[in-house]
Amino acid sequence: MQEAIDHKQKRTLRLVKSANVIRNEHKPMVDSEDYYKQVENYAEQIRKTRNADEIIRILDVVLSETRGLKFSDEVFAAQEQVKRAEQKIELLKGELEQLRELVQTDQMTGAFNRRGLDEIFKREAARADRNAQSLGVVLIDLDDFKRINDDFGHQYGDSVLINFVTVAKETLRPSDIVARFGGEEFVILLPEVEIADALTIIQRLQNNLAKNFTLQVDNQSMPITFSAGVALRSFGEHQSSVLSRADKALYQAKQTGKNRAIPALC
Ligand code: GH3
Ligand code: MG
Ligand code: MG
Repeated sequence: MQEAIDHKQKRTLRLVKSANVIRNEHKPMVDSEDYYKQVENYAEQIRKTRNADEIIRILDVVLSETRGLKFSDEVFAAQEQVKRAEQKIELLKGELEQLRELVQTDQMTGAFNRRGLDEIFKREAARADRNAQSLGVVLIDLDDFKRINDDFGHQYGDSVLINFVTVAKETLRPSDIVARFGGEEFVILLPEVEIADALTIIQRLQNNLAKNFTLQVDNQSMPITFSAGVALRSFGEHQSSVLSRADKALYQAKQTGKNRAIPALC
């Protein structure tokens, strides 16, 4: 989809640049103000939608309609108006970039979603291979989350998930990635770490989470805990392979008492 968006952007930008040369006597005449208003109208429509396909459809309409117009001489003369139109197109580009971010983000927690993780994993894996660097891949599953929901309500469960992401972002480096893999499962990418560092980082996250958020059960404070499988991606290894290794280690962490991080086998 990214390619499609890029493609649309390029086409849109090219359209404005070439507006100076589109002259066809059989097309309806528009003046610069009309043209500007029209672009504004489409920008507004795009602002209102949060659906990538709909935006691409609107851009298609913009393209075909604008190609169908004959610009008055005023447009060609009035550089200022053309500049304003270009700024509007830039705005559309910005809207598309926001949209791209939106489709890669889990709306509730603000972490990357599966789609975002796929994109970023590709980028980080390519960088790691190119520079012969390591990439830590951690699969995390909150402990006894069903019980938290059952005892405290689904909304409270949601706030635990949101808090987990906040604490993770605060604990990790800006270059580390937090993604919601689904439900109460998260994937963390740690570029340039060795296994011992990765385990230490995850332990720090466990401590920070326990400090930051506790449950009151029978007048007793119970920390929120998670189990983790910690893998180090090997050269050329695919996402599914490294995640499957991390998942096996996570399973082991659950089986041996939860609230722990286990290194994955190579
Ligand atoms: P374990 O320690 O073995 O991981 O047990 P668990 O209870 O965490 O695991 P289980 O897979 O049995 O339950 C996960 C629960 O997570 C069940 C599901 O309702 C809940 N859940 C999934 N997504 C959400 C969400 O977005 N919000 C809330 N509040 N709960 C969710
Ligand atoms: Mg689970
Ligand atoms: Mg769980």
